[in-house]
Amino acid sequence: MSAAHSYDDERDVTHYIGGQRTTGEATRRQEVFNPATGAVARHVVLGTRGDVESAVAAAARAFPAWAQTPPIRRARIMQRFLQLMNARRDELAAIITAEHGKVFSDAQGEVARGIDVIEFACGIPQLLKGDYTDQVSTGIDNWTLRQPLGVAIGITPFNFPCMVPCWMFPVAIAAGNTFVLKPSERDPSASLMMAELLAEAGLPASVFNVVQGDKDVVEALIDHPEVKAVSFVGSTPIAQSISERASRAGKRVQALGGAKNHLVVMPDADIDKAVDALIGAAYGSAGERCMAVSVAVLVGDTAERLIPVLTERARNLKIGNGVRPEVEMGPVVTRAALERIEGYIGLGVEEGASLLLDGRGLRVDGHEAGFFTGATLFDHVKPNMRIYQEEIFGPVLGCVRVKDFAEAVALINAHEYANGVSCYTSDGGIARAFSRQIEVGMVGINVPIPVPMAWHGFGGWKRSLFGDMHVYGEEGVRFYTRQKSVMQRWPDSIAKGAEFAMPTAK
Ligand code: NAD
Repeated sequence: MSAAHSYDDERDVTHYIGGQRTTGEATRRQEVFNPATGAVARHVVLGTRGDVESAVAAAARAFPAWAQTPPIRRARIMQRFLQLMNARRDELAAIITAEHGKVFSDAQGEVARGIDVIEFACGIPQLLKGDYTDQVSTGIDNWTLRQPLGVAIGITPFNFPCMVPCWMFPVAIAAGNTFVLKPSERDPSASLMMAELLAEAGLPASVFNVVQGDKDVVEALIDHPEVKAVSFVGSTPIAQSISERASRAGKRVQALGGAKNHLVVMPDADIDKAVDALIGAAYGSAGERCMAVSVAVLVGDTAERLIPVLTERARNLKIGNGVRPEVEMGPVVTRAALERIEGYIGLGVEEGASLLLDGRGLRVDGHEAGFFTGATLFDHVKPNMRIYQEEIFGPVLGCVRVKDFAEAVALINAHEYANGVSCYTSDGGIARAFSRQIEVGMVGINVPIPVPMAWHGFGGWKRSLFGDMHVYGEEGVRFYTRQKSVMQRWPDSIAKGAEFAMPTAK
């Protein structure tokens, strides 16, 4: 199939195996919605163990030749892929808005952040360079090299159907692995467009494959003996079970989970900037971001000054179909997500938090069946409430009032999630203390959503990441390769007979 294929049709979303779209065994299909209209836009085939077998077998067959391809040639294919992604970025963003619901400018931003990682992967020859020590002993040299693992898999969430797969496969492939992607079944179309652009860039068939599906496909992929590395991004309970299943099978695994990100506003912060940050980070993408801010921690007298401005701004958010340029917040992804989010709002009221803005029951003109909920704002949220402890993953912001900086840090450090955090202040000493004392993987100072750049690596702490290594950046390169150490001596220096003591430098 050429990359000129039209992606806005009504056909099934298929797998991509061995360089071709295929419906595979096609025993089950699932509806894919346009969240803004609530209509079924297309169907996605749900794979079987047989489809997994086909995809992994194809990837395993492609591995030896791909691993032997010089890194500079692999990088050149990545460079062509980079050019194609740049040329087609708006088309990809439109696919994302149509299936996820986020506003088009936000989808463009997601594609741009995915492209950053492809650009990083183009530097793979430099990244794979090993260490060398001349003369570790007389006539002996020692060096290290990093070699690819084999077939790697990626299991990705609905909320970033382009960016999160791009956290994984460009680095894995550039490092010499072959790859099977299992995208979210809720917005699967972006995966096929990227597969076809990789083929157009010159990637050999079967180096990159896609199997659509749900739990059954995920389990079959993890259990497959040819699969050597598992990258997962999604909710915490599933991240934990995937990490445990893959570890039991002796596989390398990184499983990124959910979040409850706090933004601290110190009394000396610029209140207007803090409100801008909270509005964008809490309600952007309808709160369906793992780096969304869902708790505002208001220190000292900040609440009295900030809450009236924040409430007014949140009340006036423009909510509607994400394809319209004036819209600031789109729908949530499915009706089930809408019901879960609105259920949490009811729970917050029962738990005794003050409901300043109630987004429930929002109707958008002309989109009555769309999955819309408005901006919700709670004040006086307490740490023992479930709306504080649990990830809601919707446009719901809770404000917690604390007396001072120490209480803010203690509150955040006691939370089970530790993905991202931010502090707004004009005091450099406070900023420094915050970034050193806070037990969270990604920290922003006067930055609302501190998603690290492609060469820094992304990952939370505690129950936001199961595994030792972050995704992309140098940690990503380490994850998708294993180190080999070679010690070399040539025959003119070995005529000494066997040595039985531990070798030491001579
Ligand atoms: P999810 O956990 O429901 O699904 C993630 C992936 O796992 C999907 O591909 C899905 O098909 C698959 N899956 C679902 N149930 C499964 C099961 N029982 N066994 C095996 N696989 C299963 O997550 P989601 O709703 O698609 O995405 C939202 C979640 O992802 C949120 O919790 C969000 O915080 C998290 N997330 C985290 C990060 C991060 O970097 N930490 C980034 C993006 C999203």
